[in-house]
Amino acid sequence: MQIEQQLAQLRDQLNDYNYQYYVLDDPTVPDAEYDRLMEALKALEAQYPELVSPDSPTQKVGAAPVTAFGEVAHEVPMLSLDNAFDAESFSAFEKRVHDRLKNISKVTWCCEPKLDGLAVSLLYENGKLVRGATRGDGRTGEDITTNVRTIANLPLSLRGEGYPAKLEVRGEVFMTRAGFASLNDSQRKQGLKVFANPRNAAAGSLRQLDSRITAKRPLRIYIYSMGLVEGEESSLATSHYQRLQQLKEWGMPLCPETGLAEDRAGCEAFYEKIMTIRDSLDYEIDGLVCKVDDIELQQRLGFVARAPRWAVAWKFPAQEQMTELLDVEFQV
Ligand code: NAD
Repeated sequence: MQIEQQLAQLRDQLNDYNYQYYVLDDPTVPDAEYDRLMEALKALEAQYPELVSPDSPTQKVGAAPVTAFGEVAHEVPMLSLDNAFDAESFSAFEKRVHDRLKNISKVTWCCEPKLDGLAVSLLYENGKLVRGATRGDGRTGEDITTNVRTIANLPLSLRGEGYPAKLEVRGEVFMTRAGFASLNDSQRKQGLKVFANPRNAAAGSLRQLDSRITAKRPLRIYIYSMGLVEGEESSLATSHYQRLQQLKEWGMPLCPETGLAEDRAGCEAFYEKIMTIRDSLDYEIDGLVCKVDDIELQQRLGFVARAPRWAVAWKFPAQEQMTELLDVEFQV
């Protein structure tokens, strides 16, 4: 087969999977299969860089927002994360970071479980929650303000003082395992659609046009970063981890398993530890996110098309099967 044809086939297939996953919240293949095709496309594009097109799935984040919701422009784009699938590719990533930061001998890492839900942006003005949005295609998301207001552990007002007049935070909305089990139980009893996994249940619940339905769903959120900040910038910590602690003081829920690692070996130990406790957590995670902790170094490293150069999602070995999808009877 011609290279152009192979590329077109992979791109079409991935675009279909993206549509099912991001727009319909209803994937038809396991994430591992999606990741396998994406890696194949990346490898081909690396071999034939002249054939990379700006509309390739390797260059894009998520999917365009659905018009039924209002649109929100992300002043600071909401990007994805590059993946590492094993210790070797994590080590190669860590080496690239050190190579780029030539004169820096020590890099501290903030390690956070990779929560398996969906990314949202939340804007607080003078301490009040005024807007919630999905990531969408990274530049434009969907306005889901009334829906995010129903998330039980999300504060509608910030606590304390010293927060910026305009503070956008980003986090992952998810469903706990117990919440997911009881939602599916109740859906089944009512003869309604059963969800494939907690991630899809969370995404489907948050992107409801009727917020009364969202309010009945057991959604939770953990915040993992700041986006746009205006006012009091000088009071912000210079470390990502410390900024998370500031967010906690202002009332934001954080993932309790977040911590610091001093070097690559520290990240590896963190990864092993999180993998060991993975099944005992009451929410699903699919890897460990390692972020350069120093904000100034993050800025120096910058971004590529769809992901920052200062962070990586080190995925756990594939565990998810489509068994849930195949086993359950769908009643829509
Ligand atoms: P991603 O999920 O691999 O990584 C980026 C996302 O990680 C962020 O947007 C954020 O939502 C999330 N995240 C969780 N914890 C985080 C933390 N502590 N800090 C920062 N971000 C955190 O990338 P993506 O672009 O959202 O999705 C791509 C992945 O989605 C694929 O690798 C695949 O696993 C899955 N997918 C599956 C299908 C399918 O058909 N099965 C289709 C599309 C995508």
